[in-house]
Amino acid sequence: MNLHEYQARELLRAAGVPTPEGDVASTPDEAEAIARRIGGTVVVKAQVHAGGRGKAGGVKLAATPAEAKAHAGRILGMQIKGLTVQKVLVVPAADIATEAYVGLIVDRESQRPLLMVSPAGGIDIEEVAAKTPEKIFKLAIDPRYGLMAHQALGLGFKLYADAAQARAAAKIMTTLYGAFMANGASLAEINPLVTTSDGTVLALDAKISIDDNELDRRPDLAGLRDESAEAPAEVAARHAGLTFIKLDGNVGCVVNGAGLAMATMDLVKYYGGEPANFLDIGGSSNPEKVVNALRIITSDPQVKAILFNIFGGITRTDDVANGIKTALAEFPVKVPIVVRLTGTNEAEAVKILQGIGMTALNDMDDAVQKIVALVREAA
Ligand code: GDP
Ligand code: MN
Repeated sequence: MNLHEYQARELLRAAGVPTPEGDVASTPDEAEAIARRIGGTVVVKAQVHAGGRGKAGGVKLAATPAEAKAHAGRILGMQIKGLTVQKVLVVPAADIATEAYVGLIVDRESQRPLLMVSPAGGIDIEEVAAKTPEKIFKLAIDPRYGLMAHQALGLGFKLYADAAQARAAAKIMTTLYGAFMANGASLAEINPLVTTSDGTVLALDAKISIDDNELDRRPDLAGLRDESAEAPAEVAARHAGLTFIKLDGNVGCVVNGAGLAMATMDLVKYYGGEPANFLDIGGSSNPEKVVNALRIITSDPQVKAILFNIFGGITRTDDVANGIKTALAEFPVKVPIVVRLTGTNEAEAVKILQGIGMTALNDMDDAVQKIVALVREAA
């Protein structure tokens, strides 16, 4: 689950990361009032789950409350990477001397929290990694000991030659690591971490993603979810108990089991197709889950064909077939469907599908080749 910047900076501020105090607004008038309360030059920042807001025109300096209102009027409602801006953050403008990057992720390779810092901040870290990888310094943290003082200070000196600034950065890294662990984050990033003209080190932007597995035991964090800022299909899927991730392709995939879903997507790509989604309908399926899955997938206009890949173990393939039958009776599905199923109650499933004029394939490879060919024809 992604947090908004204003939520992430609240978490970090509570942990002790120095960051300018601000407030969120949903209307230009509110933004103006906050700017007046802050006084002086402010920054008006789009609150969406996307990076690169600066480049997209979603971060603007305003010298007066009237200007803050005007900027808020333009930014609210703006689309950034397909997401509509519904809130802006208004914060006092910092007088920036330098911009650095500090971030933590859960790293699969080292199987540890990985701390990354770079004196080349302010821009996408992916860009720094691609063009000047020597400017990124990494440390895999042993969670038994945490981030040790000498390690943090060593990285602080990679950012700043000035000892006081290096110490301030080290303290921010330690605090960030504490907040990352305490909140079950999968990512926590400050970009930019700035120095101001008087030498102060400050966090000007914050991005935090919480591991979804953390949310059941942390209702306080779960309460930060802003569904209006998420992809509608992903929201609908979560409510239906489905694990769904929207992708850019045109082959809709309905699969039981995460591993088989991954293998299905790999095979679609292998034969030259592009999956439109990852979808795991879960182990114990019921017809309603299949109906919901089809409703969600068919609402994506990019989808040109739908592939079912069901390996019936605990999942009963007749449940899946009944789900398809119910869905086709409830709403129109205008794209071709290819069904591959095998396993529990397979004979019943085949009969149900035959009853509605559909054939079931038995072999995964055949089914994937067929769906890719169908999509090619449609194009
Ligand atoms: P992002 O583009 O979505 O990562 O948004 P950021 O919050 O990182 O802002 C983008 C850029 O706007 C920063 O790298 C800064 O250059 C600039 N910016 C943000 N806040 C301030 C500020 O308080 N003062 C000044 N002068 N520039 C700022
Ligand atoms: Mn940023």
